[in-house]
Amino acid sequence: MKTESKKEYDLIVIGAGSGGLAAAQRAAEHKQRVAIIEMGQLGGTCVNRGCIPKKIYWYAAEFAYDLKHSNTLGFETNDFKHNWQTLQQASKQYIKKLNDMYRKNLSQKNIEIITGNASFQSSKEISVGGVLLTAKQIIIACGATPVVPDIPGAEFGITSDDFFELKNKPNKTIIVGSGYVAVELAGILNALGSDTKIVARKNSILRKFDQSIQSSVIDYLVESGVEVSLNTDVLSVKENNNQLLVQTNNKDHTSVDALLWAIGRKPLVSDLGLERTQVTKDKNNFILVDQYQTTKDPNICAIGDVVGNHELTPVAIAAGRALSDRLFGGKENERLEYENIPTVIFAHPPVGTVGMNEKEARATHGNKVKIYEANFVSLRHSLIGVSSKAMVKLVCLGKEEIVIGCHIVGQGADELLQGFAVAIKMGAQKKDLDNTIAIHPTLAEELVTLR
Ligand code: NDP
Repeated sequence: MKTESKKEYDLIVIGAGSGGLAAAQRAAEHKQRVAIIEMGQLGGTCVNRGCIPKKIYWYAAEFAYDLKHSNTLGFETNDFKHNWQTLQQASKQYIKKLNDMYRKNLSQKNIEIITGNASFQSSKEISVGGVLLTAKQIIIACGATPVVPDIPGAEFGITSDDFFELKNKPNKTIIVGSGYVAVELAGILNALGSDTKIVARKNSILRKFDQSIQSSVIDYLVESGVEVSLNTDVLSVKENNNQLLVQTNNKDHTSVDALLWAIGRKPLVSDLGLERTQVTKDKNNFILVDQYQTTKDPNICAIGDVVGNHELTPVAIAAGRALSDRLFGGKENERLEYENIPTVIFAHPPVGTVGMNEKEARATHGNKVKIYEANFVSLRHSLIGVSSKAMVKLVCLGKEEIVIGCHIVGQGADELLQGFAVAIKMGAQKKDLDNTIAIHPTLAEELVTLR
């Protein structure tokens, strides 16, 4: 390698996504000399191709669902139209604001932004575009990227990254997968008028979540017009005149405008030169770390999607801050606890979940588990003629009935989960919820009135 110069820091962070930015900024607050290396826009997946644009498109979908059903309450909105490009522009403008804000924040904290691809030369040395950087500590926070399967014609499909770049709404879409991305983007496309089908290889979707969440979400998807095709594998994709011909094991030959792969993400590690360090990876290439986010190489830590443990923005941020507090802030035992992490799937209505699901709880605690569950058509849905049922469920443990899981599908689940997550983190018992006066009429009240 030809080096032009050598720069020294206390900390180098690879990747300016949510986790990397959090770690870098916290280290700078502890008076460290920090550099952050990024090859794309500041903010990483969440800001540029994930949570933020997704939430903006989700808002648009919610508006569309409301407009569609608003006649019942006296509105005349039968012929409303939606302009995809206006939505895209609004999303891009908001993202630009965040990119600029991150740049300003980093500059205010004297964190050097280095643009390019990072490649380890040794445990303490990284090269970027011919410049050699050294640091006592290095944090890998370079994230993950969507998986595209190895089948004929897979390249004709798009991923969630490409979705937000689409110039026009596809009229007919197949989404392959069964997790967060599949459900969220199916809801958005369907609401905005694309004929949408989810193709899942197994017998359900959202299989990592509580069984009651799975069935409630499928009901809502199907009632809203999304086709859900289970036990279906896509075998090949062919392109002809801007149409994709998708062949499955069910002998389907469906012609669509767009096919979107939503089958998980893989860590972005292949170009890092990890072979020149002692960092190790698991069989899926996620970087192995201990509970303090340290890799097998004592100078190198890793956080966020690249370690593949709860690939969620707030997890990466919390892990990054805890790590810099431990490394540079004198808090030698600081670390992120990975239990009871609340998470939301922005479906229509949204899903909120924290703690153990029923199956996990029964496998771990057997008959010490007691389940409280209610399924009901919400007032709002009843008014507009939606018959799918909202669901709230508490998973309780032992005779004290400690709440170890809370699962919600329904309007407002995204906002109301946070408070219940606090209660669960504090060790709430079922009786604490029962002793709380309900707020009526809401979905949340169902969680404090379960019998
Ligand atoms: P997920 O891991 O959530 O789901 C992907 C699913 O696709 C798998 O669970 C699997 O389900 C199925 N699958 C895997 N391989 C194949 C294959 N070859 N063919 C067909 N199906 C397959 O991945 P996503 O891409 O949806 O999201 C990635 C991560 O990003 C999430 O896990 C989440 O952590 C994060 N995320 C968070 C969001 C939020 O917080 N709201 C939103 C979006 C993403 P099965 O085994 O049942 O087939």
